This record gives sequence, C-alpha cells and structure tokens, in this order.
Amino acid sequence: MFRTLSLMMVVSMASSLIGLPTAIPLHAETAQPKQWAIVIHGGAGGDPSRWSEEKRNARLDGLEAALNIGRDLLASGGSSLDAVEAVIRSLEDDASFNAGRGAVLTQAGNAELDASIMDGRNRACGAIAGVTTIKNPISTARLVMTDTKHVLLVGGGAEAFAASENVPLVDPKYFLSQRQRTPQEPDPSEHPHLGTVGCAALDSEGNLAAGTSTGGTPKKLPGRVGDSPIVGAGTFADNASCAVSGTGVGEEYIRNAVAYDIAAQMLYAKRSLETAITEIMTERLQPGVGGLIGVSHDGQIVMQHNTPGMSCAAADSNGRFETHLMLDNGGRPAADAAKPIDAAKPIDAAKPIDAAKPIDAVKPTDIDEAEIRRLIGQQADAWNAGDIDRFMDVYWNDEGLTFCSGGHVTRGWTATLQRYKRRYPDPTTMGNLSFSDLELQRLGNDAFQVLGVWQLTRDVTPTGGRFTLVFRRFDEGWRIVHDHTSVRDAP
Ligand code: ASP
Repeated sequence: MFRTLSLMMVVSMASSLIGLPTAIPLHAETAQPKQWAIVIHGGAGGDPSRWSEEKRNARLDGLEAALNIGRDLLASGGSSLDAVEAVIRSLEDDASFNAGRGAVLTQAGNAELDASIMDGRNRACGAIAGVTTIKNPISTARLVMTDTKHVLLVGGGAEAFAASENVPLVDPKYFLSQRQRTPQEPDPSEHPHLGTVGCAALDSEGNLAAGTSTGGTPKKLPGRVGDSPIVGAGTFADNASCAVSGTGVGEEYIRNAVAYDIAAQMLYAKRSLETAITEIMTERLQPGVGGLIGVSHDGQIVMQHNTPGMSCAAADSNGRFETHLMLDNGGRPAADAAKPIDAAKPIDAAKPIDAAKPIDAVKPTDIDEAEIRRLIGQQADAWNAGDIDRFMDVYWNDEGLTFCSGGHVTRGWTATLQRYKRRYPDPTTMGNLSFSDLELQRLGNDAFQVLGVWQLTRDVTPTGGRFTLVFRRFDEGWRIVHDHTSVRDAP
C-alpha cells in the first residue's frame, strides 16, 4: 500500500548487500507525496435505516465536516495528534453525536463526559472522566498528557485543572440545550451506546495518534466511567503497531482490554491490523457490543462493527474520502463474509454472559437467555435498592405495556409505574424481592416467555407468588411487554 516505505526497504536491503550505508532519509529517494491516513467513528449502535432522513443527514454532515478538518491538517503536513484533537473537537461541538454538546444524560439528568488521547510516538497519554463543565474534553485530555505527570484526572479535580489551564468551561445546561430531556422523559429514539466519537490518524512523519470522547451510555449511574477514557480499553496508539478507538458497551471493552489487545496481536502475533480487529469483533466481543476503527503504522485503515450500524469515515493521501452510517458485513474482510452479522442480535450486552465459559462456546440462544436473566436480576437489585424507577427500566416504555395483577389490568408504562409506587410507597412495604425457578421459553427470534416465582420478604406481611412475563427484543434491548402476576394463597 505504501510504496514509499516498501521501496525504501528494498533499496535499504540492496544497499546493505553491496556494503553501502543503509541510512536513507525518509522519502528521500522519491518525490511522491508523504503518506497519511485518518479514520473517524461517530458511535456504533442501532440500524440507521430506521432513523429519520434528517438524523442520517446530520450524522453524515458531521462526519464529513470532521473528516475535512483532519484531511486538510494531515495533507498540509500537520501532526496526527493535532488532527485527532481537531476532528474530535468538531464532533464534540456537533449535537448529533454523543460527546460534548450532544452527550447523553445520566440517571440524574446531567451529562458526565469522558475522553482520552494518546501519542503513538512515546505512548504519552492523557484522559479525563466524569466532567460536567468542560466544553471540549478531548483538549483537556491532551493537556493532562502534556502539562501534568498524570494520565487520568476525574470529576472536580479535572474541572479545577481545566480552569487552571483556561480552557473554555460551560454551564452544565449547555449539554442539555439541544435536547430538553429529563430522566423521566427518555428520548424514545435514543439508542444505547450510540454516538461516541473517536479518531485514529497516521501523519506524514509516520506518527500515530488516537483519541475518543463520549457522554457514555444513556441513563448510566452517576459516576459510571466507560472505556473511552481508559487507555488500552477504548483508545490506544503506538507507532510500532497501530492507533485505535472503540465504541460500544464500554464495560466489555475494559474487560477485554480491547484497544491494547489489538496492538499486542500486531506486535506479538505479527497479525495485520485487519486480522486483529476481525478477531476481536467476531471471536472476543459478543454480537451487538460495538465497533472499532484503527490505522496501522503502515497506513492500513480498518473500520468494523458487530452492531447493525456504525457512523464512520476515512481518508488518506491516496485520495480516499468516504463517510458511512454502516458497513457491508460490518466492515469485515470478504474471507470472513460467510458469517453474516445478525442485525437482530441484542445490542445491550452490558455484562459477560458467564465468565467461566469460553466466549465461543456461548450460543446466540444462550446470549439471549443470559441477557434476560441478567435483566430480571437487575430488577431485583433495583427493587432492593429502593429504586422503582430503575426497576421499571426493564419494562417496555410504551402505552402498549400490559400489567395484569390481582384481576386488574393496567395498561401503559406510566400507569404501571404509578401502580407500583402506590402499592409500595416506602422501603418497609418494598421489603426484599427475590425471583426464583425461572423457566425461559423462546417464542421465535425476538420474544421469550418467562415463568417464575417471586418472593417479598418484609416485616409487614411477607408475600409472593408466580408470574408470567413476555419479553420482546427492541433496538435498545430486551424489554417486558406483558407481565401477569399472581399472589400465592396464604399457606
Ligand atoms: N464506549 C462508550 C462507553 O461505554 C459508549 C459508546 O461508545 O457508545 O462509555
């Protein structure tokens, strides 16, 4: 791909054979323009064909504008680090992406931003997490790298550092201004882990850099930090191998040290960037978890996702310039095309299915079952933490939800929430909830029936009974669409 470099190697080898000095200055023997490459992502997640045309265009326009900035910088001899920062700043200022201005909100209804940047020349890196007033987190991450001896600053300390560096700070309302949302009124079009931004670049001096910036996952717990500011998980750059940035369920990227693993595969197993990323996307991460972009030290660009879509873009010194909302076969090489990505797979695989099981032994059915069991467990945890709102997250947030208990039928998510709050007004009445004897039965590709037993241990009359749930798969994951609960007869 990079003729200059391979030509140099040949000249260099020939020189050493005939005893001439081998130190040839970079590009000295050819008048060819220097080589550079850049790749960007704007988040992996749901199927863009389901978006409005307006949203699709906004995404494509944002990617193109950012790519133009990166291309111009690199083509005029700018550094990969400057290109990564400038590209990400542009995407942070664009409310169509989940970073900076357009960041998604926590359960508490505010934006908490994370970002990291890494310099492939020397593995210098900087990151910030959980900040609420920094307009362009990527630039502060870079200042952490250049102006402190640290790698990661969080929360108030990061904000104080940013203030001391005179970076633009904003009122936290700035991040709400585009979308007047409250945690009680989630945006129904919002998709989990969609819209994080990242960039990886190779400049004409052969230096790599990568960066990632995000608002994290929608309705995350306050204080939750994902992979984006974690060097080695969501971002990595090393001139010896590659520069990469990830997007998806951050917990999975942290557990698998994804970004570093790609570099390690290249260094130790001598794999190409494409092979390394394909291995992670198909063998290591569960379907539906996310996407990756990267540039190798020799300018190979790779973009892959195992979600239905990923906003991404790429350009290089050979004239390549392209933007996408999804890639054919998730961007995997043709040789791997025999295994199509199943767009119907769950998106929100927020926890490993079974840590003791090798990943490739987990069949798709197991993945769905495990996810449903996890959601039911999450409900019990939320209940026992006194958090009925979080308990309700697992229900379909729609007027079509049917909740049937004690001979009464309640329709709709809001009415069901109110019913719960009426019947369980305080921790004493809520008691401690447990579920047992779960029996899952698949009803086609996108639905499950679940039978089980519930038990409420509390000081006031303990109670319990059986339930039947119907789960349906939505873009945002599995949700209960029908709940029929009975109270067991007193013994
Ligand atoms: N990886 C990000 C996080 O977990 C989210 C995303 O990429 O959409 O915070």
